[in-house]
Amino acid sequence: MNENAFAIKGDIVWSRHNHTLSWAKDGYLVVVDGVVQGVYQELPAEYEGIRIVDHTGKLVIPGMNDIHVHAPQYSFRGMGMDLELLEWLNTHTFPEESKYADLSYAERAYDIFSDDLLHSPTTRAVVFGTMHVEPTELLMDKLEATGLKTYVGKVNMDRNSPDYLCEKDAATSLADTVRWLNDVEAKGYANTKPILTPRFTPTCSDELMEGLGKLKQERGLPLQSHLSENLSEIDWVHGLAPWSTCYGQTYEHFGQLDGEGKTVMAHCNYSTDEEIAILKKHNVFIATCPQSNMQLSSGIAPIRRYLVEGMNVGLGTDVAGGASLSMFRAVADLVGCSKLRWRLVDQNLKPLSTAEAFYIATVGGGAFFGKVGTFEQGYDADVLVLDDSGLRTTLECNPAERVERYMYLAEEGGRIVEKYVAGTRVL
Ligand SMILES: [Zn+2]
Repeated sequence: MNENAFAIKGDIVWSRHNHTLSWAKDGYLVVVDGVVQGVYQELPAEYEGIRIVDHTGKLVIPGMNDIHVHAPQYSFRGMGMDLELLEWLNTHTFPEESKYADLSYAERAYDIFSDDLLHSPTTRAVVFGTMHVEPTELLMDKLEATGLKTYVGKVNMDRNSPDYLCEKDAATSLADTVRWLNDVEAKGYANTKPILTPRFTPTCSDELMEGLGKLKQERGLPLQSHLSENLSEIDWVHGLAPWSTCYGQTYEHFGQLDGEGKTVMAHCNYSTDEEIAILKKHNVFIATCPQSNMQLSSGIAPIRRYLVEGMNVGLGTDVAGGASLSMFRAVADLVGCSKLRWRLVDQNLKPLSTAEAFYIATVGGGAFFGKVGTFEQGYDADVLVLDDSGLRTTLECNPAERVERYMYLAEEGGRIVEKYVAGTRVL
C-alpha cells in the first residue's frame, strides 16, 4: 500500500461547483500523494488497509484561501479602525511599514505573523510584504517554513508616498524587483512563490507601471494590487491618469493584466461596467475584503453581480484594514455585507448565502492556486479538522449546519485540531 495514502474519517463538508454544501457524516476523505481521491461513506475495497486518521465526530472541511493580506500590517491590527483609507494609510500604515527596513524588527514581526497564520484557518495566502528586498525575503523564508502555500510580493511604490517609505525612482524600484526575483529563484522554495506587487496606481509612476507590466509578461509572473476600493482613491486615480476612462484601465494600459501569470485585484467595490469588462477579458481574480471595506468606510462590493457575470471571486482578510486574520470571520462578514448592500443599495442583487460565501473562501480563491479548495477528485488535499464540541447547543444539526455555525461562532470555542496542505500535515 502506498505510504502516501491515507483517509481522514469524520463529518466531512465541502462545496460543489454549484455553491451548495455537500456532506458525509462519518465519511472518509481519501488522499493519495497529496491529492483528493474522493469522499466516501464506506471505504472502497481498493483502499482497504490504508492508514485511517480517525476524527470521528469532528468536522473536516477544505482549507481557507486568503487572497489578500498585508503581512507588515499585522502588528497594528485593530488600531485606527475609526479612520478612512487614505488617512489610515498616512497615520498607521506607512509609518509602520517603514520600520521593516530594520531586519531585526522585520524578524520579530514576521515571526508573529507566520506563526499566527499557521494557527489560523488559512492554508494558502496571497501576501503583501513591504518595498524592502531583504525583509521580504525574510518573510518568505518564514512562510516557507510553515508549510503553508503562499504568494508573497515585494511592494513597488515610487511616488506619492512619504519620503521615509518611497523608492528613489522607477529604475531603482525595477532593479530591486529583479534582484529580489533572482534571489527567490536561487532559494528554490517549495511552498512560496513571488508575485509582482505595485501597491496601487497612485503610488506607482507610469514608468514603473510599464516596467512591471513588461516583467510580468517576460517572466510569466502573477501580479496583485488594489482596485476601486474607495471613492477618494478613485478620484485621485482619475486626476493622475486623466486619459483613463476607469481605474482598471490604468493597470490594463501598462500590460499588467496580460501574460501567463494570474492577476488578483483587491476590493473592486465601485467597478463600472467598463472596468468589469476589462476584468472579465483578462480573467482577473477579485479579492473581496468585507471587513476592511467596513472598517475603512470604503464601500460594499457587488459580489452577487460578479458571480452572475461568471467572474473569479475569492475572499481576503486584508489585514490590517480588516482586523481579524480569521477567514471564518471573513465568511460571516461577506454574508452580512451582501445583506446590507441588498437592503440599502440595490435590491436587484440578492444577498449571498453562507454556503456561497464558504464557496468563495475555499473554491473561489483556491482557483488562484490551481485545483484547490474542494474535496472533488483531483484537487489538492488542503484540509482543516475542526472540533466544534465547544459550541454547545440543544439542536441536532447536520454537518453542513455545524459548519455554518462554526463560521459565525469559531472564536467562542471552536478549535482547529489538524491542518493539512496538499496532503502534508502542518498543524
Ligand atoms: Zn490591501
